[in-house]
Amino acid sequence: MADHRPGGDTPLAAKSPFELRVNLGAHVPEEDVRAALASGDMGFLHSFTTGSAVDGPGVRVVAWTAGCMWRCVYCHNPDTWTMSNGIPVTIAKATETLRTYRQGLAVMSGGFTLSGGEALMQHRFAAKLFAAAKSMGIHTALDTNGYYGDRLSDAELGQIDLVLLDLKTWNPGRHRHLTGMDIGPTLEFARRLASLRKSVWVRFVLIPGLTDDPAEIEGVAQFAAGLGIVERVDVLPFHQMGRFKWKALGLEYALGDVAPPDAAAVDRACALFRGAGLTAY
Ligand code: SF4
Repeated sequence: MADHRPGGDTPLAAKSPFELRVNLGAHVPEEDVRAALASGDMGFLHSFTTGSAVDGPGVRVVAWTAGCMWRCVYCHNPDTWTMSNGIPVTIAKATETLRTYRQGLAVMSGGFTLSGGEALMQHRFAAKLFAAAKSMGIHTALDTNGYYGDRLSDAELGQIDLVLLDLKTWNPGRHRHLTGMDIGPTLEFARRLASLRKSVWVRFVLIPGLTDDPAEIEGVAQFAAGLGIVERVDVLPFHQMGRFKWKALGLEYALGDVAPPDAAAVDRACALFRGAGLTAY
């Protein structure tokens, strides 16, 4: 695999995934992109960030992948939809980067989280990076919408300690409206994780007028509780921090007038999850 360095001097490390990053892999020839996806020897990353306390237990190093097949109307990072916006990074470089954090993560009882974009768009790279992390004794977490969960074998899932599974809504029609995709594969992946007894944290984005219908939250809650593997639910209040990216990318943003939910609305959503027997924050 050729070593394709990013066109500019954009560092792999970022302060946060809210940095707008575009075209950093656009110079990589199509055939090399295809070879990278097939082998996992190279990935396309928005960035590495450090210090997260919300992307898994302890303090996390997070690698944010580029590429997502969904088009969520509320997406905070639409620059990660396109793989060619990401920095081309060899698996060796990504592993070496992770190694530099190893001692600190051990001290802080933290770990490594692969997020996106949708990390399983680059499932071979993801599998190799998780295997490398586990070989270093690092706790691993995958943040995913679950749609491509069947691209990981059971053995590859065995290299992942925790899955952060994004469940958007219980209503199939609304799911298609919110994401552009069907809910079925995500639910199927969740059931497979249950059969494997894999630890799961559910992530639920609360958006006024879109995902705050109590009956629909109840549906998500009952499904999640029935899996028997969900350790906690994080209710994530919708926010407008990614709004500027839509504008910068020339994309039409439909949620410009939607205010973040207030604390009472978040409490009500948490109560619905707790009512199903789940731990919710
Ligand atoms: S799945 Fe995540 S990265 Fe993909 S469009 Fe939805 S919010 Fe954005």
